[in-house]
Amino acid sequence: MTTEMNEPRIALVTGASRGIGAAIAKRLQQDGFNVFGTATSAEGAAQIDKMLGRSGAGLCFQAESPEQIEPLIKAVETQAGSVHVLVNNAGITHDGLLLRLTSEDLNRLLQVNLLAAMNLSRAVLRGMSKARQGRIINVSSVVAQMGNAGQTGYVAAKAGLEGFTRALAREMGGRNITVNAVAPGFIQTDMTDKLNEAQQAAMLGAIALGRMGQAEEVASAISFLASDAAAYITGAVLPVNGGLYMG
Ligand code: NAP
Repeated sequence: MTTEMNEPRIALVTGASRGIGAAIAKRLQQDGFNVFGTATSAEGAAQIDKMLGRSGAGLCFQAESPEQIEPLIKAVETQAGSVHVLVNNAGITHDGLLLRLTSEDLNRLLQVNLLAAMNLSRAVLRGMSKARQGRIINVSSVVAQMGNAGQTGYVAAKAGLEGFTRALAREMGGRNITVNAVAPGFIQTDMTDKLNEAQQAAMLGAIALGRMGQAEEVASAISFLASDAAAYITGAVLPVNGGLYMG
């Protein structure tokens, strides 16, 4: 994907050091984007630098800290220009029954999974509005629609992210900016490696395709939503869940 001047377009992917985010960053790079990816540590950012080589860079970003958002966007704009595609992928889980979660746990879940995506979107919209083009793609989860005991905070944040996707899509459509979400099911990453064998077996039994998904399979859906082929799709939530939930 290139601009009229034939310069590569810029994509920013949060949480690109591992799992789904790393697969997204690699895929968008293959698609021709100049990719900036974030990690929570300098070591993670250096790893992203290495992974992306010349057509990308790693940056440090902690989603709990809203004050890091402006400098992050500024760093990308100074190095390369306005962001064309923002992928709000960084996310955390913190499982436990609501009765056992503290308000700090809930605040952190909402901050990292929802508020950071909203604030980052606002920060890139200035450039996108001026350019009269842009794509924002939020990484939700199948549990936003299914619900999941033990994940009230995470589910509330992801359901909020899907509502935010639809509302922002309506706000920004007139500027040719699309806003969509991808809702992965049970994908093999560090996040799901934390589940015990019994939890994994129960989950596998409920998936129509009978297997976990791969990060690259989520990245394919993001690649499509970032592409010219998806120009008329906005406000959508695309499931990538192997038939775990069919709405
Ligand atoms: P992961 O393997 O745990 O990787 C998480 C990524 O987010 C890492 O790059 C991590 O950076 C970054 N991150 C973690 N905490 C952060 C924070 N406080 N601030 C900024 N960045 C932070 O997760 P994943 O499985 O790839 O999940 C990626 C996204 O998909 C998440 O939004 C998740 O909710 C969603 N999702 C995953 C699944 C699944 O089955 N795996 C299913 C549905 C939805 P560091 O390396 O620096 O820690």
